Amino acid sequence: MAMKSKVLIVGGTGYLGKRLVKASLAQGHETYVLHREEIGVDIEKVQMLLSFKQQGAHLVIGSFNDHQSLVKVVKLVDVVICAISGVHIRSHQILLQLKLVDAIKEAGNVKRFLPSEFGTDPARMENAMEPGRVTFEDKMVVRRAIEEAGIPFTYISANCFAGYFLGGLCQPGFILPSREQVRLLGDGNQKAIYVDEDDIATYSIKTIDDPRTLNKTVYIRPPQNILSQREVVQIWEKLIGKELLKSSISEQEFLAIMKEQVGLTHYYHVCYEGCLANFEIGDGAEEASKLYPEVKYTTVE
Ligand code: NDP
Repeated sequence: MAMKSKVLIVGGTGYLGKRLVKASLAQGHETYVLHREEIGVDIEKVQMLLSFKQQGAHLVIGSFNDHQSLVKVVKLVDVVICAISGVHIRSHQILLQLKLVDAIKEAGNVKRFLPSEFGTDPARMENAMEPGRVTFEDKMVVRRAIEEAGIPFTYISANCFAGYFLGGLCQPGFILPSREQVRLLGDGNQKAIYVDEDDIATYSIKTIDDPRTLNKTVYIRPPQNILSQREVVQIWEKLIGKELLKSSISEQEFLAIMKEQVGLTHYYHVCYEGCLANFEIGDGAEEASKLYPEVKYTTVE
């Protein structure tokens, strides 16, 4: 059997990154985690890094402010996965990856790079609204740099992180479900796609040694998780044995409150326009649950 690639996770202390570290180790890859010196006295992060080490990962020091340090760590591995932050309510550092691209280019040994994407496919979001379009624009800048440098890649389009979208029944600003009421976005009938964050990590790691995903976009569309907000609410109502009081926020009302908020624009494209599920996966792309039917993904229910 072919040797499993050695993997470097950049942003391994993040919300998604820590799951990528776990999945990489679980799938038997020698796993390196970038540890940046700027971590200072963030005790929680240090403890997380130490726990990765206890589970068998190698901690390697490098900084985005020191090109040679990045080249050095990149040379240790076959595959680089970046999960640097890209959510405005937390932190948005997508363009920092250009430095990582430079390092990968110089190192010259990387067989696959997965940049920090893991959301809506930015290539489909040319007409996205302000202010949210920056997310897609920045991710496209990184894609162009990768492709110009001739770095082999896989882009993971993971759709909605379940934690952010499902917990609050698809209502922006909520991550826990009410037992009393819910506000539907429009008629609540646009389909979206929800993926458990650990499953995103599992599928992502599956792609790295797979020739079918080389230089392609992989969409994660677990069939049972392609649901409208109304369907999500129905599942919750069934679970708690109670109907919620429903109101609705019209498209015009939503557009009026949306200004200045990156995250809300993303909800608009997903929940009013249905941007995640309104297209067929075409050439140059694959779908994860079809490629890896052995993964028992977590359903919305
Ligand atoms: P986090 O906010 O959890 O941050 C991830 C990592 O970024 C951390 O490990 C952090 O490292 C690192 N980082 C931040 N600033 C710097 C810096 N200056 N130099 C080096 N490292 C830095 O990220 P998420 O997990 O929320 O996001 C990962 C990806 O997932 C993004 O592309 C984002 O857009 C996407 N996403 C998609 C969602 C969806 O619903 N589809 C929802 C949320 C995110 P350190 O610990 O050292 O500070």
